[in-house]
Formats: sequence, C-alpha cells, structure tokens
Amino acid sequence: MAEHAHLIIVDSQSTHYPNRNTVTDILTDNFGRRHTYLRISLTERCNLRCTYCMPAEGVELSPREAILTFEEIERLATLFVEAGVRKIRLTGGEPLVRRDVEKLAERLAAIGPLESLAITTNGILLDRKGAALRDAGVDSLNISLDTFRPDRFFRITRRRGLERVLASIESALELGFDPVKVNCVVMRGINDDELTDFVAYTESMPVQVRFIEYMPFSGNGWNDAQFVSYSEMMIAIEDRYGPLTALQNGANDTTRSFKVAGWAGSIGFITSMSDHFCGTCNRLRLTADGNLKVCLFGAGEISLRDSMRTGATNSELKVLIDAAVKRKAAHHAGMYELADADDRPMILIGG
Ligand code: SF4
Repeated sequence: MAEHAHLIIVDSQSTHYPNRNTVTDILTDNFGRRHTYLRISLTERCNLRCTYCMPAEGVELSPREAILTFEEIERLATLFVEAGVRKIRLTGGEPLVRRDVEKLAERLAAIGPLESLAITTNGILLDRKGAALRDAGVDSLNISLDTFRPDRFFRITRRRGLERVLASIESALELGFDPVKVNCVVMRGINDDELTDFVAYTESMPVQVRFIEYMPFSGNGWNDAQFVSYSEMMIAIEDRYGPLTALQNGANDTTRSFKVAGWAGSIGFITSMSDHFCGTCNRLRLTADGNLKVCLFGAGEISLRDSMRTGATNSELKVLIDAAVKRKAAHHAGMYELADADDRPMILIGG
C-alpha cells in the first residue's frame, strides 16, 4: 500500500490501478452509461425528521471536520464538470441548513459548461433563501411534500411546517425557478388516499408533482405492506380523472410524466422499485463526508475526501473515480434484497 499512501480506499475490493495513467472517460461505466449528473450532499443535518428518510432513533452525525469544505466541494465539482458532468443537484439532509449555501451555489454556478444547478429541499427555509439562491444561479427546485394535511405532515416529518412548505412552492414559482417539482413519497395507509388531491393541485399550479415509490433504506422501517406501485397509483388516478395524457420523457429521466389535458401542471411517477430505470442511469452521488457513491443502492463507496486531504492530485482522483464507476452494477438488487441490505440511511445519501 506504501506507494499509494495518500490514496485511501474505502472499498476493499480493489487496491491497484492497472491503467493509472490511461484513464479516458471516467464517467462511463462498463454498461456504456455516461454519468453526466452529479448529486452533491452538503450536510447530514435536517430540520425535519421524515419517517422514510431518517431512522426514528436519528443518525450519528459525522464530526464537522469530516464534512467536505466548500473548497473541496468546488474542487470535486470542477473536476467532474471538466470530465463531462453537466447537471449538479445539491441535496442533504436538508441543503438549506448549510450556512452560506447560496455562496457555494454561486461558486458552483460559475463552473464553465455546467448546464443546470438544482436543489432538492424540504422548503422550510426557502422563504428566507429563495431569492439569494436564484440570484446565485440555481435554476430549478425539487420541494418535498407528502401530504396536504397538517396532522399527517406532523406524523410523516415529526415536525410542523406544512404552511411554510406550501408557501415556499408558491414563492419558488414567483421567483422564476423552472422547473419547480414537488416530490411526494407514497406510502399505503399514510398518504395514498391523497393521490387525487395532488393531481388536483396541478390544475392551477404549474408544477410537476412526482409520486415516488417508497424505497427501502437503512432504518426507515420499509415494508411491502406500505409499498404502492406505480401501476396501482395510475389506476387510482385514472379512475378519478380518466385517461391521462402521456408526456415526452428525457433519455435519462427517472420520471414517467403525464398530465390532465389542459391543466397547468403535470404529474410523474418514479418507479425505482416496481420498474427500475437503471439501464439509463446517469447519476453519481457525493456524500457530505466526501464519499463517491456510484449507485443510490450500491454499498461500495470510495473516499475522495481522504485522498484529497492526503495530497492526491486531480489525475489521481480521476483514477479513483474511474475505478469506482467501472465497478458500478448494472442495476439495483431489488426491493426485498435492498430491504435487508446494510447501507446508509437516506438522510446520509441525499436521495
Ligand atoms: S438504483 Fe443505482 S443504478 Fe439504478 S437508477 Fe438508481 S443510482 Fe442508478
């Protein structure tokens, strides 16, 4: 290990880099998928406690010094954009609880050929940060909302704040973010009877409501009794609104999009469990503590933070990234196997 002393590997599968000076396209895996979309988690902290994301007992937070600094995030983001990443999404925990997030956004938005800088937020702090984020160069927002009922909001998030989230969606539209998407995790017996209310919301609201299939993550108590599949959701919605109009989806889109003809907004379904979209995956993730996670459900991670902090050059970081991307699996293991897997809770990944 001596000659690589400054290259620390979290994943024990591979300790050598046969082609260290010949890495070509570090973003393309062995299935030909090119990863042009980087999701960066800024923090492990959140001001909500959503049951499908945060284990009831909470999570052990990394010490502050273990979290990537703005400089490290900017360095890695620049390296990925130089390699071909064109979209960056800031996630968390809740990214808006990271101090000066708008300053980081400004630095990231200034990275050359980046085409989109987006944020996924729970909306609680958006009323305070929205305008500054827009001015910093953030172009689109995904805002989490799983219910329109205050009692259920408290039950799901273990906090209050429904009105603030609803107001933040309105202000996001007024501030000109485009698109504004609303992420709703559908759980049987919790909020599945509100599907048609969310569809009705799109009559006048020019947002895309995305119904997300409930996914198993460590500590979120996932069980298939609460799982509602895309096809089941579709039946319930078309029973009420008749056949929906199918919309064009992008090559790497995770969402199947539809709308009620003539309405302002649209709806979508993220079918990662019942009908995965791994074949067109273009996403990589950077955790707040600096690990590269090539798949949302892949436990294998490498620490880019530790390598940076022990003097790795950019070309050596590219060797690490390339090795990790080339080890990416064709698809996730399926919801039942994932339910037993020992991986990070969602709060420590950022979705
Ligand atoms: S499960 Fe992994 S491979 Fe599949 S779409 Fe998600 S990140 Fe991509």
